[in-house]
Amino acid sequence: MAVGLARSDAVGPWLTSAPPELLRADRAALERFAGWVAATTDVRLSVLFTPWGEGLTRRWYREAMVSLSHLPHVERVVIQTNLAARVDWLADADAARAALWTTYHPGQVDRDRFLARCARLTELGVRFSVGVVGLPEHLAEARALRAALPPHVYLWVNAAEGRRYAAAEEATWTELDPLFGHSVRPHLSLGRPCHAGETAISVLGDGTVRRCHFIPEPIGNLYDGSWRAALRPRPCGNAVCDCHIGYVHLKPLGLRDVFAGGVLERIPAAWPVG
Ligand code: SF4
Repeated sequence: MAVGLARSDAVGPWLTSAPPELLRADRAALERFAGWVAATTDVRLSVLFTPWGEGLTRRWYREAMVSLSHLPHVERVVIQTNLAARVDWLADADAARAALWTTYHPGQVDRDRFLARCARLTELGVRFSVGVVGLPEHLAEARALRAALPPHVYLWVNAAEGRRYAAAEEATWTELDPLFGHSVRPHLSLGRPCHAGETAISVLGDGTVRRCHFIPEPIGNLYDGSWRAALRPRPCGNAVCDCHIGYVHLKPLGLRDVFAGGVLERIPAAWPVG
C-alpha cells in the first residue's frame, strides 16, 4: 500500500522559516508516523513524504528516511526535495529502498550545486528523478539540466498550473520528457475508478486519513485503526486530477504499470528508453 504523509493543510509551502512550536509539532507528527510504519508489519508499505518547505533540512526527516529504509516490510521510502541540502547522510540508508523525488527550481538552488548532488546520489546508488516546471522562462535551464544529467536519470516536466500549452510548446517540452503528455492537461476523473482509498492513502500529521491529497473528506484515522476498514474501491469525486501524485493512481490511465517499481519517486519502469 502506498502511504503519503502530507504537510498539514494549515501550513503552506511558501513558509521559509518556521516558528519553533511548528517545528516541534512537525517532528512529533513525523516520529509518530514513522513509529506506526515500523509497527505495521502485516502490510507491505511504500511511503512518500510531501512535507512543507524543504523537509531534508530537518534532521527528523533524514532519520526517518534512513530508519524506514531498513525495515523489511517497507518497499520504498521517498521524499520530495529541492536538493538544497547535502545528501551524504543517505550512505546510511538502504539504497534499494530509499529514493528521492527531486525538483529543480532555477533561482532556489544553483544548477552546478544541484548537479553535484545528483552525481553524489548516483555514487551512493540511490534512485531519484529530477523534475522541472514547464514555464517558458525555465526552458533554457531545463535543457541545460537534461544535457548535463546522465541518461539513466529520468527528467520529468510538470505542466505549469493553469497554463495551456499550444501544440508546438507541448512538443518542445516533450523532447525533454517523453511522458509530458500525461501532465500537460488535467485528467478528467469524475466517476472514474482510482486506487486512492483502496491501495493508496494520504495521511495528515494528526493521523487523519484521506483518499488522496486532493479530496479533503477523511475516510478514517491511522492511529485508531479505522483506516483498515475504510479501504475499498471507489470512483473519483473530483472533476479533474492534475497532479502526478494523484493521477498516477487513476486506474484507466494505467500509469502504475508505466511507473512500475518507481511510482512514488516518479521513475518509469522503462527508463532509460531505447
Ligand atoms: S483521481 Fe486524483 S483526485 Fe480523484 S481520487 Fe484519484 S488521486 Fe484523488
